[in-house]
Amino acid sequence: GSGRITVHETLPCRVLLGAGARHSVPEETERLGSGRVLLVASGSARAAADDLVRALGPRLAVRFDRPAVHTPVAVTEEALKLLRAADADSVVALGGGSAIGLGKALSVRTGLPQIAVPTTYAGSEVTPVLGETKDGVKTTRRDPVIAPGTVVYDPELTLGMPAGLTLTSALNALAHAVEALWAPNATAASDALATEAADGILAALPEVLARPGDLAGRERLQQCAWLAGLCLAQTRMGLHHQLAHALGGTFDLPHAELHALLLPHVLAFNLPAAPKAAARLERITGGDPVTVIGGLACSHTGPTTLKALGVPREGLRAVAERVVAQPYPNPRTPEVEAVARLLDGAW
Ligand code: NAD
Repeated sequence: GSGRITVHETLPCRVLLGAGARHSVPEETERLGSGRVLLVASGSARAAADDLVRALGPRLAVRFDRPAVHTPVAVTEEALKLLRAADADSVVALGGGSAIGLGKALSVRTGLPQIAVPTTYAGSEVTPVLGETKDGVKTTRRDPVIAPGTVVYDPELTLGMPAGLTLTSALNALAHAVEALWAPNATAASDALATEAADGILAALPEVLARPGDLAGRERLQQCAWLAGLCLAQTRMGLHHQLAHALGGTFDLPHAELHALLLPHVLAFNLPAAPKAAARLERITGGDPVTVIGGLACSHTGPTTLKALGVPREGLRAVAERVVAQPYPNPRTPEVEAVARLLDGAW
């Protein structure tokens, strides 16, 4: 053997997948024994939320429509008041990572069971991780009770994603898979998940970008987002996620766009020191992963540089220093000079 003992942990989770799966949500609340549902929904999911309200009928206790990015504690407290006043006994979160984050924040404070119905490829619905912000400071905690017990993937909910969000959110998922491939605690299981996720994303994304209404392609992307989310849950993330966390927190940047533009730079930085990940990604891309993924990352009209996102160039060095000081695994030891150069390249 390799002389290395690996540890694989999974969280109990019931997952429903397929076109129309969202119509099973009322039945899933019944399964939980819930008769008073709190529905948290992003504005972008209003139509699906309206349908769900009608389908739930008297089982809907209260609806909250204003989840915010990075789960601000003030918003959670506002929703918590509604939850308590309505005596809700379950939480259904419908939307992107922001709505899912609020659902987790409410569930962890109340112990209520949750059903997550994601509309992006961020993957938060299958992780035991919650990032929250208070007074501009983001703190992240990990606890198995944070993970939703039921996840409903309906690709029809992703048909309305604009091209930019489709691309950047899919690359956000790809980043989870890539970092799982070079994680020191990767297992045969996480390697399998990451390989299938990366393969599926790189195959389906160009097709979906060319034909946004391609439901089969959307379904494949969503399934890969699920697998990539499991990678995030199972392995320790490295430099890429540290950079995204530090930059996103310092400059309040859009999550998916930031992940998408950083990924090629982190790949170029790490792949020479991560031969197993490099070999897999070369096989999957059929070429140079940095070129292929870099080409995808800048193939949209949205911001593709840190400069375009409004990051001040002179602020990059402090981010490099902070990221280098954090403890996390990475195939190549990050040093301030090299990380500052990486960031300057992304700028
Ligand atoms: P988001 O939920 O903030 O959504 C981005 C924008 O897209 C919003 O305006 C939203 O309304 C819109 N949108 C969402 N779905 C749409 C759809 N189907 N069609 C059209 N518009 C749609 O962004 P996100 O990237 O999904 O999630 C980012 C947040 O999730 C961040 O706060 C991040 O930290 C968190 N996150 C957490 C984890 C975790 O494991 N804890 C993992 C990934 C992301």
